[in-house]
Amino acid sequence: MSAVQQAPAGERDAPTGGHPERSRLPVLVCVDVEPDGRLLDRSRVQPWVGFEQVADLLEAARSGFAERTGQSATYTWFVRMDPQVAETQGSPTWPATAYAGRFARLRRAGDELGLHTHAYRSTADGGWIVDEVDQAWVEHTVRSAHAAFRESFQSTCRCFRFGDRWINDATLDVVEDLGIGYDVTLEPGRHPVVGPIRLAPTRGPSADFSSVPGLPYRRDPSDFRRPDPDGRSGLLLVPLSTHRYAPLVAAALTACRRIRHPTLRPEPVETLNLALRPALFRHVLARVLARPDVAHVALLVRSEPLAQRLGWIEHNLRILLEYPGLDRMVVTTVPEGMARLGLAGGRRSAPLDGPRVSRPAPPRNRPWSP
Ligand SMILES: [Zn+2]
Repeated sequence: MSAVQQAPAGERDAPTGGHPERSRLPVLVCVDVEPDGRLLDRSRVQPWVGFEQVADLLEAARSGFAERTGQSATYTWFVRMDPQVAETQGSPTWPATAYAGRFARLRRAGDELGLHTHAYRSTADGGWIVDEVDQAWVEHTVRSAHAAFRESFQSTCRCFRFGDRWINDATLDVVEDLGIGYDVTLEPGRHPVVGPIRLAPTRGPSADFSSVPGLPYRRDPSDFRRPDPDGRSGLLLVPLSTHRYAPLVAAALTACRRIRHPTLRPEPVETLNLALRPALFRHVLARVLARPDVAHVALLVRSEPLAQRLGWIEHNLRILLEYPGLDRMVVTTVPEGMARLGLAGGRRSAPLDGPRVSRPAPPRNRPWSP
């Protein structure tokens, strides 16, 4: 099933007619713009150094991508503006204010700004817990972040990513209700995990992405993991690029990773992430591109200030810049990349079947306690 086959006839762009510019493979660089660390200190406002450093690297790489592809290169930035940001930085709009000049420059370059949320919640003892079990809390994180985005950037939010490899149907209903057109949360092939891989105390496992398609699709309203053949949803799900390792490679990687993290049960599935070790990045990129049905490449990078990771990101950007087939690709934003596939996200003119968006109880800001 191709991406274009999944687009209902009424929404397709004009026929591409095999135009060479249209047939370029869209490469979507998706950046999570978030604080340094996870269990944040509330006692002082900390700059997001990781974001500054990752943004410097990507901005420096822009002209190289443009030169190689002959097309302007643009990125999609997913900005955290959820309750944890509000609590630690004094306001959910802090990143937009603190980095106003940077975001203005990125937008002038044609980049897309979207939202990234996590469900971090204060605990009664002053700590943090990831609470994706209380749906009213999850919906509050999404709606409050969306309000902060609209207030800060004075523009429509078109792209969204939930954090910690988690999403559910009710939350996607909220995202769609807010008029957001593109969700880039899914990591096909990933099974739910609990424990150390989630990196923070959490009330539940991550989501089950083991059966989600690798190509962009509109979800079945009763289960986001399945495409809806009628394409009724306005929200386009754009999966990140993932790769399942061959059994021998997976076994070797598992053995290596368990030396450092004995309790870890790594999955044989890797998400194409700019912060991977360069040898792995090169391998996963090649496998993703070798897939016969590849329609897009969506790669992720989380802003974090670890020197080793920054070195890997810089190295991996060079791997991408020097990739032999890059001249047949275009580094572009999520909406523009999907438009090249004849797909558009956003509100549908036809009403959806029945009331699907649950209206949550008033936001619950009180700390979570067991
Ligand atoms: Zn995140």
